[in-house]
Amino acid sequence: MEGLLNELIEQCRPDTAHGKVASYIPALAQADPNALGVYILDRNGLHSQGGDSQVRFTIQSIIKPILLLQALMDNGEAFVRGRVGVESTGKPFDAINIADAVNQEILSEHINPMVNMGAIVMCTLIQGKDYRERFDRVLELTRLLANDPSIDVDEEVYRSEKATGNKNRALAFLMKSCGLLEGDVEEVLDCYFRACSIRVDCRDLARIAFVLSNKGRDFMGNELFPARYAHYVNAVMMTCGMYDGAGDFALTVGVPAKSGVGGGIMAVVPGRMGIGIYSPALDKKGNSIAGIHVLRRLSRQLELSIF
Ligand code: GLU
Repeated sequence: MEGLLNELIEQCRPDTAHGKVASYIPALAQADPNALGVYILDRNGLHSQGGDSQVRFTIQSIIKPILLLQALMDNGEAFVRGRVGVESTGKPFDAINIADAVNQEILSEHINPMVNMGAIVMCTLIQGKDYRERFDRVLELTRLLANDPSIDVDEEVYRSEKATGNKNRALAFLMKSCGLLEGDVEEVLDCYFRACSIRVDCRDLARIAFVLSNKGRDFMGNELFPARYAHYVNAVMMTCGMYDGAGDFALTVGVPAKSGVGGGIMAVVPGRMGIGIYSPALDKKGNSIAGIHVLRRLSRQLELSIF
């Protein structure tokens, strides 16, 4: 497997030149645009890696499935489903013009937990006496899923996004104005910005994906969360996880996945494996350009598509 991964890295690394590192969060612009790494954990316990798989980067939107999972674990499916819809928006992750008429009912059905609005609402559904405690629970869950207690927050990226995240403030205030978001907007956003700034590597993403691929059980068979929540999270990732490129990704790769503007992609191959990718040069939709190409080739070679 490592031979195949190294071959794919070599074939796909030149594609990084066709993408751009995210810079709307200024601290992200420091990433090496040529980096490309991959890590796979399969159901036989085989770990394989290639390229820059040990580089650490911020999880960004790949925290969204984990926020959803924590919200499900704290409130159950019916409650979460009642607050935020599951339909793909067909719009960028931070789109403001999601619904034509903005009231709570319309807005909540037009967003999903994989776009910023939905993920910000998820932060309000997580239990905790304050937003610091809610964030700490999200960090602990991330560490548990990745089996990596060293996972921490990139304080520089956090401060950078907090200082410049006015689009997210606008989204949050819009939701507050129609009753979809409860609580203090700055506190909710602080939890969201911190969660996006959690620092991981490809192995962490592969391990988290593995648990999702294995119905909530880790490699030792311990149940970390109920199988029905893996079903929920994977289904929403399948249709909404790759920004407004989710349809093309379903066609060309064919597995539930989530990408982040930090350059990560987490791909879940149900019953088979978890995959973590890092390559920060992004395409126009915000997905890792070389990362998607690696996944396309991997999917063809190993017949990963669920369709
Ligand atoms: N923290 C980023 C934002 O809210 C996450 C975006 C992403 O990775 O898609 O803008």
